[in-house]
Amino acid sequence: MKYTIEVDLLPEEEILSNEELLPKVLSQANLTIPKTTSIGIRRVKQSLDARSRKIIYHTTFEVLTDNDANSKEQDEVKKLQKVGNSSKTLLIIGAGPAGYFAALEALEHGIKPIVVDRGKDVQARRRDLRAIQQFSEVNPHSNYCFGEGGAGTYSDGKLYTRSLKRGTYEKTLRLLVEHGANTRILYETHPHIGSNKLPVIIQNIRRTIEENGGEIYFETFVTSFIIKNNVAIGVQTEDGKELFGDAIILATGHSARDIYQQLHSQKIALELKPFAIGVRAEHPQELIDEAQYRQKPRNKLLPASSYKLVTQVEGRGVFSFCMCPGGLIVPAATNPKEIVVNGMSMSRRDSPFANSGVVVAVNVEDIPNVEKYGVFAGVKLQEQIEKNLFELGGKNLQRSAALRIPDFVSGKVSTSLPSTSYIPGIEPLPLQTIFPDFIKKRLQKAFDDFGKKIRGYDSNNGIVVGAESRTSSPIRIPRDPQTLQHIQIRRLYPCGEGAGYAGGILSAAMDGQNCVRAFVSTFLI
Ligand SMILES: Cc1cc2nc3c(=O)[nH]c(=O)nc-3n(C[C@H](O)[C@H](O)[C@H](O)COP(=O)(O)OP(=O)(O)OC[C@H]3O[C@@H](n4cnc5c(N)ncnc54)[C@H](O)[C@@H]3O)c2cc1C
Repeated sequence: MKYTIEVDLLPEEEILSNEELLPKVLSQANLTIPKTTSIGIRRVKQSLDARSRKIIYHTTFEVLTDNDANSKEQDEVKKLQKVGNSSKTLLIIGAGPAGYFAALEALEHGIKPIVVDRGKDVQARRRDLRAIQQFSEVNPHSNYCFGEGGAGTYSDGKLYTRSLKRGTYEKTLRLLVEHGANTRILYETHPHIGSNKLPVIIQNIRRTIEENGGEIYFETFVTSFIIKNNVAIGVQTEDGKELFGDAIILATGHSARDIYQQLHSQKIALELKPFAIGVRAEHPQELIDEAQYRQKPRNKLLPASSYKLVTQVEGRGVFSFCMCPGGLIVPAATNPKEIVVNGMSMSRRDSPFANSGVVVAVNVEDIPNVEKYGVFAGVKLQEQIEKNLFELGGKNLQRSAALRIPDFVSGKVSTSLPSTSYIPGIEPLPLQTIFPDFIKKRLQKAFDDFGKKIRGYDSNNGIVVGAESRTSSPIRIPRDPQTLQHIQIRRLYPCGEGAGYAGGILSAAMDGQNCVRAFVSTFLI
């Protein structure tokens, strides 16, 4: 019998250990536990409530007796098998969250994963990120989107998902903890890891895969698929190798536009799907803290505050996306002649800036030039905006256009800009002009509304930087909902965000696991 107790903690109590909180928690419970030799508590859920002046953490504790400590973990994470000599292999294209969690799942089922990625390992990748930040040199195979750990490595590491399958969700978090993430992610309502911690976790996952007999190859760029009688049997790589597996998990992320082109040229079906495009807004963290906590400066025991904004403008949602409190705006382009921004933060979230994507939902019927570009019309729209931005800056490398929010809204160019976290730099240029009207006008109207929800949001203290164009994939690689195989090519598993089945680190990881389970239940049971 497990007991749970809900307790409200003040920020100065929240930082105490479970042992230190034991008397308080037990004093609030009306338990009839026999006097066993030991009673412990652990947090199973915790959310920060800043709605009133007295800011509290609603915390659910589980009371543990000798018998049930840690039993839950033992139930859910299965033992990995040594697969060096396994006769079953899964070829996994992409070492992002979808690919790496697919590999871990394969090990649970005794299948040998062979993971290939066009980018470099996390350590080597770091040098390429520095080159983008400092010299605007974008390596098309190793950047903020490509390389070990995928787009999730140098991110904020937020771990939210709308998935309702709680079991898989908890298992994924637990695997992250087993590989080095802080146990807080198991109970926080809005867990995050941070860009400084993620690379170590990813290296640990790599070690697990390799120690159990899986194989991982970096700087291996898949250029085509080997298909026989509508069955995927392998891939070809740029350096002329052929790799084979019993099935292929295709987890190449939303920025692998060349992979979509390749699938199309091999007559493998793709579909247009809705996505979102906009800008990244940045404010002083203090401004957001003051609005959210009504404190200036905020109590240092509280985390940098976050927000979630959403409004409807002319029938389309405009919303904040991937909010990074205490974070940095980063250049997320995958090619030298485009500018794309995104956000990240360190585990402490201690930069003086708060940033967030502010994006307009683009439905399939909104996408221009479908007659001309067919299934690539959404990608073309993204590319056009990214190129417009690059050219707006006089092809000035990764330096991006930015505006103070009131100027963006009224169609003006700012005469000056405040400081920013975006290292390549910003310039006051007419950012509005890179967008088609249906996006620009909705963004402009949304800021008016957001200013009513967060005091100062639409003031001169806030800026917008372009372009937040890679929120999700504009293409879906269609798959059978039961078997998760491609609708036309057997043993090909379109997976993760690039295939249109995930929208973040956690959902991509879970989709990787699901694809492996689907392969097992279709072919191995
Ligand atoms: C800066 C930034 C911050 C983010 N912050 C967050 C966040 O805080 N929380 C969150 O949930 N999400 C965040 N995201 C989104 C998140 O990272 C993605 O949703 C997630 O990584 C998708 O996982 P995936 O495995 O499907 O694809 P990806 O992570 O994109 O991985 C795809 C992999 O495939 C490889 N690849 C591509 N083409 C080929 C090829 N032809 N041959 C071989 N390999 C190939 C790539 O190198 C890459 O490693 C962020 C993204 C960025 C860019």
